[in-house]
Amino acid sequence: MSDYKMVFIGGAGNMAGAVIGGLVASGYPADNIVATGRDEQKLRDFVARTGVRGSTDNLSAIRNADVIVLSVKPQVMKELCESIVAEVSARKPLIITLAAGIPLAAYQRWLGAGVPIIRAMPNTPALVGTGVTGLYAGAGVTGEHKSVATQMADAVGIALWVDEESGIDQVIAVSGSGPAYYFQFMESMIDAAEKAGMNRADAARLTLQTALGAAKLAVASDIDVAQLKRNVMSPNGTTERAIKRFQDGGLPELVEQAMSDCAARAAEMA
Ligand code: NAD
Repeated sequence: MSDYKMVFIGGAGNMAGAVIGGLVASGYPADNIVATGRDEQKLRDFVARTGVRGSTDNLSAIRNADVIVLSVKPQVMKELCESIVAEVSARKPLIITLAAGIPLAAYQRWLGAGVPIIRAMPNTPALVGTGVTGLYAGAGVTGEHKSVATQMADAVGIALWVDEESGIDQVIAVSGSGPAYYFQFMESMIDAAEKAGMNRADAARLTLQTALGAAKLAVASDIDVAQLKRNVMSPNGTTERAIKRFQDGGLPELVEQAMSDCAARAAEMA
């Protein structure tokens, strides 16, 4: 699989840049990866940093590609697809799209039927190798295609395949938007600690390290998170008092509603 030639359109951007960095770090031959972009200087810097090839010409870059990863912003995706349709519909290489909110049917319209397409939904912790990528395979995608996409996702974290395209909306509600939920919680903790008299830098340091520690402990442990929570609590103790406030205030219901709103918005956009 490492002999597949992969071309990332918009390759020096945030998300594709993270994926390429992960692939190279995990041993994928940099020579078999091409990043394309519009900004020559940005592309030059990216190529110097990662050792992959660079090109400002999408069409010549994709000519021999086995896999084309689309990583431009959703609003310019249609125009991009229309500019590469001749090459793609003739040869039918695997297309992996990282764009949020564009259904598979749209790509089939823009690129023609019969092109194998995988929708991948990464999240921003991919930038530090701890991402989650939800994946959905359209018609004509083979087992080997799926292995390539899994390898790509694994290079920046973990992968989850969903059987229905609507499953991507659930992935968005959990892991796609999820980092922002935790950032919101951290922000509230930092604000509260500062209000209670701690200086903001100390409040941020303690909050972030606590979030990191809790996540590491939960990942490393066989114990489920509800029990890990109970392990911090003792009867009539300090943590119990705080957790009671969260529960009486409706935090579990609020989380459920927020995630349901998020998934509904993802479905609306698709
Ligand atoms: P970005 O702006 O950092 O990267 C996009 C890159 O594409 C830019 O470098 C731009 O110069 C380049 N580009 C634009 N038009 C081009 C063209 N015609 N040919 C070649 N290059 C072109 O954006 P990003 O945050 O990396 O997002 C990329 C995609 O990833 C989006 O579709 C987004 O929906 C998806 N995504 C992003 C996130 C996230 O959290 N950032 C999460 C999931 C999915």
